[in-house]
Amino acid sequence: MFNKELYNYFFHLETPFYYYDMNLFHDSLNKLKSAADSYNYHIHYAIKANANTRILETIKGYGFGFDCVSGNEVKKAIETGINPDKIVFSGVGKSDAEINYAIDHSIFGFNCESLEEIEVINDWGFKKQKVVPISLRLNPNIDAVTHKYLTTGLPENKFGIPVHFLDEVITQTKTLSNIKLIGLHFHIGSQIREMNSYIELCERVNSIQDNLFKKHGIILEHVNLGGGLGINYENPESELIPDYAGFFETVYNHLKLKKNQKVHFELGRSVVGQMGSLISRVLYIKKGLNKEFMILDAGMTDLIRPALYGAQHKIQNISKPGVKIKNYKYDVVGPVCESSDSFDDNVMFPITKRGDLIAIRSSGAYGEAMVSQYTLRDKPKAIYSDELINKAG
Ligand SMILES: *Cc1c(COP(=O)(O)O)cnc(C)c1O
Repeated sequence: MFNKELYNYFFHLETPFYYYDMNLFHDSLNKLKSAADSYNYHIHYAIKANANTRILETIKGYGFGFDCVSGNEVKKAIETGINPDKIVFSGVGKSDAEINYAIDHSIFGFNCESLEEIEVINDWGFKKQKVVPISLRLNPNIDAVTHKYLTTGLPENKFGIPVHFLDEVITQTKTLSNIKLIGLHFHIGSQIREMNSYIELCERVNSIQDNLFKKHGIILEHVNLGGGLGINYENPESELIPDYAGFFETVYNHLKLKKNQKVHFELGRSVVGQMGSLISRVLYIKKGLNKEFMILDAGMTDLIRPALYGAQHKIQNISKPGVKIKNYKYDVVGPVCESSDSFDDNVMFPITKRGDLIAIRSSGAYGEAMVSQYTLRDKPKAIYSDELINKAG
């Protein structure tokens, strides 16, 4: 991914910055589109993974919808020019202002996470003389095989309505005349690499749907399975484009649909993860008592995933593209005054010096989107591969 030519471009740029490989991005979006189209699945990109204007515009160009988890994300989606009928709005704590904004813009639907929220939406619908489309986000009690901070489908997680309360919620919603129940929604977690978690989800959805029909005679038009499809952080090169086709095939084989039902997904990480890298310079190589620290000019304020979840990214010295032998071991750390400001321990590199350029791979998702300015640090810039080539040409 990082050849000599690219290195020469990078060398003159101020670091740290996010580098987005737009060719890879388009390849990935094309694969996603053709895989989704072949099953007639509807994709809503989860904006929170990366809300860069250029990235959103690129995704919009493929005809996908957007999944939002805050009022400002709904606003950003609308400003990007997405058709509001492709916007879904999730989140356990939607404020009245956010609900108002979304109702006023007639989005496709709210994914509702509690009965109280549904009642509030119904009240606003009544005041505005509108019938607001909603789906129920259910917590299916499925343990997505992933980091504990990335599960969302277990009883101890704050997300979704426990399936146990479904009957009660359905009965209650029948009395509310300014909402229209249009679907069921699920999102069991993130960075899910085990297809078994999705198979389990499909089976749970099947039985929930059967019960809903038996007890209430209800078939809802939309089934939304959320996002969560994981990417290969250990060895990104081997899987630069996630296996969307395999993922959809798994769902297709296990999800039993009723007549005329439409299936939706809200993919974030898998859409933008691999095309982004955080590029940083080595400030110092510091000798510790029994280890060496590689101190970068990028830190947890630029990419917080390692500090937040102990996430591991592949880290490469791109100043030495030809050097294959990695016989030096470093702890790779940032400059911020927190011991958790560390990217990884005991990573093997070729011998590395002050001024070398380092790429932290697979940083397109939950990287730039989670930047903070703690210690008043500057925000990293975004550099797009097609702009670099244009400048050089
Ligand atoms: C974050 C989120 C997603 C996207 O998750 P990924 O793991 O990035 O695919 C989808 N739906 C909801 C409701 C979310 O909160």
